[in-house]
Amino acid sequence: MAYLANPKNTIEILQKYHFNFQKKFGQNFLIDFHVLDKIMDAAEIGADDFVLEIGPGIGTMTQYLCERARKVVSVEIDANLIPILQDTLREYPNAEILHHDILKLDVSALVREKNDGKPVKVVANLPYYITTPIVMGLLESRAPIDSMTVMVQKEVAERMRAKPGGKDYGALSLAVQYYAKPQIAANVPPNCFMPRPNVGSAVICLKRHEKPPVMTEDEKLMFRLIRASFQQRRKTLANGLSHANIRGLSKEQIQEAILLLGVPENIRGEKLTLAQFAELSNIINRMCGE
Ligand code: SAM
Repeated sequence: MAYLANPKNTIEILQKYHFNFQKKFGQNFLIDFHVLDKIMDAAEIGADDFVLEIGPGIGTMTQYLCERARKVVSVEIDANLIPILQDTLREYPNAEILHHDILKLDVSALVREKNDGKPVKVVANLPYYITTPIVMGLLESRAPIDSMTVMVQKEVAERMRAKPGGKDYGALSLAVQYYAKPQIAANVPPNCFMPRPNVGSAVICLKRHEKPPVMTEDEKLMFRLIRASFQQRRKTLANGLSHANIRGLSKEQIQEAILLLGVPENIRGEKLTLAQFAELSNIINRMCGE
């Protein structure tokens, strides 16, 4: 098999099909065997696994996945890549290509139809312009996904795994960590891609929690509080929340809730842990129920 991880083979295929990279689709194709090995190790792909791949490109990682997994379904938005994939993956009967926009795909229905609703693994070198909607969309959909091992912008990987207090900590850290345990598996420099991206990249593995690590009575309220707290990072938590019109509560009521949480009145949202956001949502929920 002509592995596309070899840059010579990638160039040959691109020329054969007169392929033009589309910036708007975030196309940076992998050309490095070591990085692919690291992704396979981090994702722990085994012979029984069903893999959902997002954005296969010309099929570089798909070839690797197909050699290890039972079944690989790859979702690609760019119509120009479909005939190329049919060529580069022709030796893999366990490969299936779907021409679709991942953001418009009902992943739960796909897993029901193609894997009897049993958990799948997501593996992807993501298009960076829509990393957050893809990752959050999949986590929030509650589709049966065991883990997501994804290449993202390095800075985004740092934000996903950040702990309270630091500059990287924010709504994305809290949202990801509510659903999953993030772990960075590799840092990847621009020269591992064609064309080279302007930013560094990292492979991050998100292992889904069996049950959420914190208890909230109202998940939606907790995420509203989180978003409102980080909308203006420099504001105190009390100010941030009172401007967000949380269930019509006055500034005094918000301050009361913060005091009940047992933290200083002038604390900033970036100091609160996920457990504290959950607790604050429960306090506010009860205040409103009285
Ligand atoms: N997996 C390939 C690799 O590693 O060489 C390509 C990765 S490239 C960074 C991202 C891929 O996602 C491209 O093939 C791009 O066309 C595709 N893509 C972009 N937006 C998409 C979307 N909304 N749905 C599905 N695929 C998308």
